[in-house]
Amino acid sequence: MTAAAHHPHVHTAVIGSGYSGIGTAIRLKQSGTDDFVILEKAPRLGGAWRDNAYPGAACDVPGHLYAFSFAPNTAWRTTLPTQPEVLAYLEHCATRYALHPHLRLNCELTSARWHPDEGRWRLDTTRGTYTASVLVVATGLLSTPHIPGLPGLETFQGPAFHTARWDHEADLTGKRVAVIGTGASAVQCIPHLQRRAAHLDVYQRTPPWVLPRLRRRTTALERAALRHVPGLPRLLRHTAYWSRELWTLAFVPGHPWARVLAATAAHLHRLLQLRGTALRGPTRPSYRVGCKRILLASDYYPALRQPNVDVVAQGVEKIGPRTITTADGSRRPADVIVFATGFRVYDPPVSHRVTGTDGRTLAEHWGEGMAAHNNVTVPGFPNLFLLLGPNSGLGHSSLVLMLEAQLDHVLACLGHLERTGAQAIEATREAWHTYRRQLRDHTSGSTWTTGCDSWYLDPRTGHNTALWPRSVIAYRNLLRAFRPQDHTLTRRPAP
Ligand code: NAP
Repeated sequence: MTAAAHHPHVHTAVIGSGYSGIGTAIRLKQSGTDDFVILEKAPRLGGAWRDNAYPGAACDVPGHLYAFSFAPNTAWRTTLPTQPEVLAYLEHCATRYALHPHLRLNCELTSARWHPDEGRWRLDTTRGTYTASVLVVATGLLSTPHIPGLPGLETFQGPAFHTARWDHEADLTGKRVAVIGTGASAVQCIPHLQRRAAHLDVYQRTPPWVLPRLRRRTTALERAALRHVPGLPRLLRHTAYWSRELWTLAFVPGHPWARVLAATAAHLHRLLQLRGTALRGPTRPSYRVGCKRILLASDYYPALRQPNVDVVAQGVEKIGPRTITTADGSRRPADVIVFATGFRVYDPPVSHRVTGTDGRTLAEHWGEGMAAHNNVTVPGFPNLFLLLGPNSGLGHSSLVLMLEAQLDHVLACLGHLERTGAQAIEATREAWHTYRRQLRDHTSGSTWTTGCDSWYLDPRTGHNTALWPRSVIAYRNLLRAFRPQDHTLTRRPAP
């Protein structure tokens, strides 16, 4: 069947309604385009901020930097907004920019295939087929929960769930709860679990580096000032932006003092918060600071020192009907297991569903790991734009800044298409290869390749395929000027 046969056609189809999907839709609306749909597999918009509804979930980037610059928010109630606040902001954006008529909920993309004869994508979804001239994949990197395949897990008799699929029905009060993992999600939910559970076991395989989280409620006066003092939101945004940019120095070669400063602050924080306990040794990180994401938490260590908490500094070996066995052979009882074990990043499901001009899927094309020119376009996949996909993660600042640079780039590509009257645009193979080589050069010698195991690196190759290894300003500068020579155009067939 041809792509065109009797299916609703839109100019742009956006997959996913998290930050990237909503941001794309707003920018399309602002540029005067109404001909788009947002396909969302869940019954509600929100992406990662809908899914990660565990107790304590919050952003560790200042709110001033976490709203779109083109849809500012002066109403954050906390300086580092909570998950419900961020989700409410996205909902508010959808209403304010009249995006609901464009949303197709419970509509999961099952296959996207480029039809060169018609110059359009055919999209099969769980709610029918669409065709689209442009496909924006806005599914993010942190959307597929990773639950380790531990032997015996299927025999466990109590609730067992991932932080990104929190079971709000599970009764934790008075129970023996086990949390596996001590990453960003774990350190946020552990203080809450400690207060509810009779006993909490924290299974820590690798101790994290933790800095204090300086967070407070905003006052009504502050919020009023943000609304009424011209330039104040912009000033605060810039202040947060530049202070976060300084963190990059701790990760890239040439600034050992920045690393020493970060490590010293984290050690002091840990030693002070755990003084007088035997936890100081087991919680001391032994890898270089910043190799994995630095965590911000002021209530994590205090929770660990409570009498109802044990830190089990061992890898988990197997699960029994009511027990967890660790690498040293010891067995501990558990009524509930919370997997704070992160996400499957290197092999996103959507990459198996998108097929390009040569009949190969993105996943096949990415045999050596995810990669996109400018982190956005892929040769052989015309009019396909990836948002917050390969090498778009950040360890130090707001992902929204990366996303906004990418949205500008997508609009520049579409503008180029319109000006030239061409049908499709894609990165050249040469530009893609050169870009990938440059990324590897920037990653080598950085903190991220000093031997720790993080979601930034593809476990199959050890290459950094998830993190942007430079400052945000470097990325914004890179995308500032559109380079036609890095792209190939497909002309429309003569009428
Ligand atoms: P994560 O950082 O990947 O942490 C996963 C944790 O699970 C690690 O402690 C890991 O230990 C442990 N783990 C994984 N497999 C295990 C196994 N088989 N046995 C024992 N332990 C195992 O995942 P996350 O905490 O969900 O965070 C992911 C990312 O989401 C963050 O880096 C951040 O970008 C984002 N996030 C942000 C916020 C925020 O803004 N505050 C909050 C949550 C998440 P090892 O270290 O030994 O591998």
